[in-house]
Amino acid sequence: MSEATRHIAIVGCGQLAQMMAQEGKPLGITFSFLAEKAEDAGCVEGLGTLVRLDEASNGEELFQALGCPEVITAERERVDTTLLRELQRFCPVYPDPHVFEKAQHRLREKLALTASGLPVAPFVPAQGCDELKSALDKLGYPAFIKSCENGYDGKNQWRVKDAAQLQEAIEEAQELPCVVEASVEFSCEVSLIGARSVSGEVKTYPLTENLHRQGTLLLSKAPFQNAQLLASARAYLQKLMDDWDYVGVLSLECFVTSEGLVVNEIAPRVHNSGHWTLAGADTSQFANHLRAILDMPLGETDCPRPAAMVNMLGVDRAPPGENQGVWLYGKSLRRGRKMGHVLLLDDCATQLSQRSEAVIADLYRH
Ligand code: AMP
Repeated sequence: MSEATRHIAIVGCGQLAQMMAQEGKPLGITFSFLAEKAEDAGCVEGLGTLVRLDEASNGEELFQALGCPEVITAERERVDTTLLRELQRFCPVYPDPHVFEKAQHRLREKLALTASGLPVAPFVPAQGCDELKSALDKLGYPAFIKSCENGYDGKNQWRVKDAAQLQEAIEEAQELPCVVEASVEFSCEVSLIGARSVSGEVKTYPLTENLHRQGTLLLSKAPFQNAQLLASARAYLQKLMDDWDYVGVLSLECFVTSEGLVVNEIAPRVHNSGHWTLAGADTSQFANHLRAILDMPLGETDCPRPAAMVNMLGVDRAPPGENQGVWLYGKSLRRGRKMGHVLLLDDCATQLSQRSEAVIADLYRH
């Protein structure tokens, strides 16, 4: 099949699907998107065929409706893995559904990370009042209670620093299966994004430093200069990729501690902390994900100048001043919603930080 006719179906139709499709166009790739019945598909308007889940009753019909894609991928981890396995009968699904099964369930994820020898915070699975209390007895305060499923961007998650806060969390969590994690003392949070192709070629980007606000990513800066930490993050990512026979972009989020990296979580997809690669790296994470799943040679991941990304959370007004581009995803405005992002490049990392802070101050002034 020639490159001009390559076709990929993406499960999901948010901004990550949008950026994959935009970056795939110059590679001659066409797209279709699989959306939930009522999912907002504004982000992918004009970028390919949209198929709603209720339009077909089985995998074969869906595969046909999606235009018989060469490969299927996803822009999020909360996907129906039974459906993915059914679709796998017709074409490859990358990453494999077993990875989504791990990533969408915190306990399975932690067990998989430890099985591969990666360092994670001490954790105890717990469900309901008694188990939550006994987990806190074991781990001590402060600690994080995180629901196993449907927890993201700080949702379904409680930081408890004393017995009173534990009681509040118990009332909110009720019988949700949870993982209780010891609180990690960290100096900052970093992520490593890498791609592995079908043939096994691996390329990683520089480490990115991430700043969160109320559990949601606000600012990413790259490169985070620490050769030793970069080497261990690369080794961890490579280990997971090998153990899972991974294909596509994989993102690893870590805490930087005095004893090295502690892995917080993984995302089996392109990641918000890698958006800076759209302007700051030779090849974007989106293009490399597509290259990886189509088994094309991966693009270079060098980052010639320090780069930063500021998320536009609940704001869709471009900030004044020079920048490397404002990406607006075309969503309707909602409080705290990821509406777009701003990219900045600068030869001087200090100046880049100052300029990023100025953008944040402008976007979030009240
Ligand atoms: P998560 O949903 O796991 O990504 O957590 C959201 C944010 O909460 C992280 O980016 C950290 O800032 C903080 N956090 C989560 N787990 C821990 C932990 N075990 N120790 C310290 N901070 C944490």
